[in-house]
Amino acid sequence: MNTLKTWVNVPENSDFSIYNLPFGIFSLKNKKRRIGIAIGTQILDVYALSKLGHLKELSIDSKVFKNKYLNDFISLGKEKTNAVRLKVQELLSDKDSPLRELSSLLIKQEDATMHLPVKIGDYTDFYSSIEHATNVGSLFRDPDNALMPNWRHLPVGYHGRSSSIIVTGVDIHRPKGQTKPADSAPIYQASQRMDFELEMGYIIGKKTKLGDTVTTDEAEEYIFGKVLFNDWTARDIQVWEYIPLGPFLGKNFASSISPWIVTLEALEPFRVETPEQKPTVLPYLQTTGLKNYNINLEVAIQPQDSKESIVCKSNFKYMYWSMAQQIAHHTVNGCNLNVGDMMASGTISGKTTDSYGSMLEISKAGKQPITLDDGEKRSFIHDYDTVIMRGFCEKDGIRVGFGEVKGMVLPAL
Ligand code: MN
Repeated sequence: MNTLKTWVNVPENSDFSIYNLPFGIFSLKNKKRRIGIAIGTQILDVYALSKLGHLKELSIDSKVFKNKYLNDFISLGKEKTNAVRLKVQELLSDKDSPLRELSSLLIKQEDATMHLPVKIGDYTDFYSSIEHATNVGSLFRDPDNALMPNWRHLPVGYHGRSSSIIVTGVDIHRPKGQTKPADSAPIYQASQRMDFELEMGYIIGKKTKLGDTVTTDEAEEYIFGKVLFNDWTARDIQVWEYIPLGPFLGKNFASSISPWIVTLEALEPFRVETPEQKPTVLPYLQTTGLKNYNINLEVAIQPQDSKESIVCKSNFKYMYWSMAQQIAHHTVNGCNLNVGDMMASGTISGKTTDSYGSMLEISKAGKQPITLDDGEKRSFIHDYDTVIMRGFCEKDGIRVGFGEVKGMVLPAL
């Protein structure tokens, strides 16, 4: 039910409605980085809000809001972070709010620079979409045995590289590396098969001790929130290097995330069931209740000086393995979690070609190029193409979205 009204001018269909209120790190010219909350086309300066005493009942030191990263804030725990979000929701809804007189607290998003919102500790990438795993298994290996024998029994993942996770708007250079043409010895060159992977990431909000395990029932207490995640991939480097130890230089040159972290609490109304799992999973991976989320996702490619074309429409709800199962599996051996760790879903593909979350799948490994709206053909990403990902939830007139993550591929250095 759409019952909350804000006095802030929020455009219809804005991802950043009064129901969302995601956290990010922003700066203005000549000012230090601080925590903000997105509302419509604006940002609420949470540091200034706290300095003025509007959060004093929450007993949080204002300094935590003047920060290069959200980690210290997230470390306060969900009780505090939720209280800040709910207090801001109240202040932005109350038509007699004292904030209405304080125009400097609201900044235009177009005037601000957004930064990487968390200092990312460890990064783990899963492989949890059955459609994607089946498609890639078919293209890289054997169409009749696309899924490896373990796939339906555990959420497959690997430890990635956190140092190269970047925020939206940071462009990347086409990576160079070793590839193996079918008819020659290995060569060193710029990747000829630059690709995106449509994923969602989530930020760990509560730490565990080494040796601790987290159950599927407890797992969501450990998630602060979610972002859009483009796991850039060089397919030609990947296919030559990945056996037997998995992804390496085909992946670790860059991954891009959206700047606003949408809290799990804001996503609560959009819970849905997970797909049926067959065979039945081991008890430590079993879940009860609605453990998935209905989040519409799309990918667009925009060639240089041209318009964008939507090349994929997918949904987070297609995930075979839920975040709760991923966390339970990740910690079942006692591996510890820290605040600021990043987990990503793996490419999120649906059942049809127009819902595939990578060009590898969309173009059938380059065999079936697609035609963009401006007539250009694409099997993989060209130099100066911008890849844009967007995501939002919508139900009963309420919209909660992620904005976008975008990045341009520049020529190899
Ligand atoms: Mn990936």
